[in-house]
Amino acid sequence: MELPVLYIVIPCYNEQEVLPLTSKLFAEKITQLADAGKVSDKSRVLFVNDGSKDQTWSIIQQLAQKDERFEGVSLSRNRGHQNALLGGLLYAKDRCDITISIDCDGQDDINAMDAMVDAYLDGCDVVYGVRAKRTTDTFFKRFTAEGFYKLMNWLGANIVFNHADYRLMSRRALEAFSKFEEVNIFLRGMVPLVGFKSTSVYYDRAERMAGESHYPLKKMLALAFDGITSLSVKPIRMITGLGVAVSILSFIGVIWSVITHILGYAVAGWASTVCVVCFMGGVQLLCLGVIGEYIGKIYMETKHRPRFILSESTLEGELGKTPKKED
Ligand code: UDP
Ligand code: MG
Repeated sequence: MELPVLYIVIPCYNEQEVLPLTSKLFAEKITQLADAGKVSDKSRVLFVNDGSKDQTWSIIQQLAQKDERFEGVSLSRNRGHQNALLGGLLYAKDRCDITISIDCDGQDDINAMDAMVDAYLDGCDVVYGVRAKRTTDTFFKRFTAEGFYKLMNWLGANIVFNHADYRLMSRRALEAFSKFEEVNIFLRGMVPLVGFKSTSVYYDRAERMAGESHYPLKKMLALAFDGITSLSVKPIRMITGLGVAVSILSFIGVIWSVITHILGYAVAGWASTVCVVCFMGGVQLLCLGVIGEYIGKIYMETKHRPRFILSESTLEGELGKTPKKED
């Protein structure tokens, strides 16, 4: 069996402090995996420069010049972590059998890659790197991040708890993923939609080796909001639900005002005003919800997502089945 070619895909934005440190570790990992006979020696570390304003790109160029294990691509401008990562993955897709995406700051334990590749060799197409502990994160980061995962799942977007963008994807999973044509991307919520056999690998998250985080609270909130609105129409459903509830209350309100009027307790004009206000409030929200349902449908349609992805065929090799480990 030919050994699979691995590409480690790493988005980098203004990372001149940390790149010289972590690039060595990534290259060593590639060599170590190749020496262990798990991946091909044609495996590479692919840096994706996300329109950095510092020396990041020239560092990547130097690395690629000196060492053939390094490759680099550069985005025309800063497009954000998710887009940079997607660009790198789709670039790598035609050059390799497996990709592992990871941040360049050394926070995610690269030694989990061994277990990821093992899982791939065992037939998994997607392997999620999951943070076992977040002890190095501040209480605030941990609290907000974990709350976010819970909220996402409650809203119906199935994301893997405590998994960020450290994951292995096989070529065929990427091939299927490339058919997701949406522009607003939230990778960790979309990858599970691809399906195929998947598993998780656990690791401890460390602190950034150098440089600073590019995800302050504002960006984290933006990512969360993007994730929710990209994957779920449940917020629209909630408006419909609210509309129904308000309509029922208004109905009760109308009856109450009519009875008060009949019993003669009401000031002239009061009952009719209350009736109109209640009625309009309920009807408007309900209508908004119904219109929202259709907008939700249009919104999902505009994504042009694939309607199905085949994974197995009785014809050998037909669907690019992942190789099984030879015992
Ligand atoms: N990143 C990027 N483009 C951006 C922001 C960040 O490519 O606009 C990269 C960054 O270089 C790093 C990864 O995304 O490799 C995660 O960023 P960071 O470590 O700052 O986030 P945190 O780990 O603090 O959530
Ligand atoms: Mg980080």
